[in-house]
Amino acid sequence: MSLTKIKDKTANTAEDILDAEIKSKRLSHAYLFLGCQKEIAEKCALKFAKALNCLKQTGGLTGCDGCISCRKIEHFNHPDIGHIHAEGISRQTKIEQIRNLRKDAYLKPIEARKKVYIIYDADSMTEEASNCLLKTIEEPPKDVIIILIGSNLSSILPTIVSRCQTIKFPESKYAQKSHDEKGSYIDEFLNIENRFQSETLEFIKRPKNEQLKTVDLLLTHFRDMLVGTGSKGTGLSSELSPENILILMKELLKSKELLQSNVNPKLIADYMLNSIIGGRNVSETSIYT
Ligand SMILES: [Zn+2]
Repeated sequence: MSLTKIKDKTANTAEDILDAEIKSKRLSHAYLFLGCQKEIAEKCALKFAKALNCLKQTGGLTGCDGCISCRKIEHFNHPDIGHIHAEGISRQTKIEQIRNLRKDAYLKPIEARKKVYIIYDADSMTEEASNCLLKTIEEPPKDVIIILIGSNLSSILPTIVSRCQTIKFPESKYAQKSHDEKGSYIDEFLNIENRFQSETLEFIKRPKNEQLKTVDLLLTHFRDMLVGTGSKGTGLSSELSPENILILMKELLKSKELLQSNVNPKLIADYMLNSIIGGRNVSETSIYT
């Protein structure tokens, strides 16, 4: 099977594609790992970096996990593997971070075969950071691979996207459930999930008053559930205890305050989505406390 065929087959997993890339020795200079489940993409990026630099060179997407290179990458202390995270209250990846990447990328690797830079929040890059990264990708440094991880395609500069090989990661388990499984009241949330998670991520693009309206809609919904007038679902809604609903409502109120005080709406949208759609225990995952 030719590599082109492998890339086109959606049934192939992200890892299959990367495995084939390494085996074919035709690697791209930049990859965009796209998907809503970022942890999976992050793990895959580390695996890729290990495989590219494993001293035992097992071939394909499998580092030995035992050599000094694999171990350093696993422990985030390999000198040639860069990790770039969004910073500050605005949770953005800023120009200084990408400038540092750019300066470093043109230096020879210290011990790696391939230097790898992982940009963990590619959809939160400022415009200046994006342009700086674009320049770097346009003049790709030798033996350097840049991996961008993101969930919102529309927040990434199209000229960057077009220069990356996009590797799609699967949707969350929730998104894969059948319509009936989600329960009737979840219909409403399904729309919200789509609004949040679709590539257009409308929520972020909306004017602030509409973002606030969405939060109000959620608050009303949970209040109705709490007093027993809301519709009962068979899925996630039935798993929420009154205590959980109250905690969720408190988090939503905080989200509202933060929206009003100009905190990055993406951070808020991601958090609300994880709290509500992910059905996680919000008391343990609050970012606001
Ligand atoms: Zn190894």
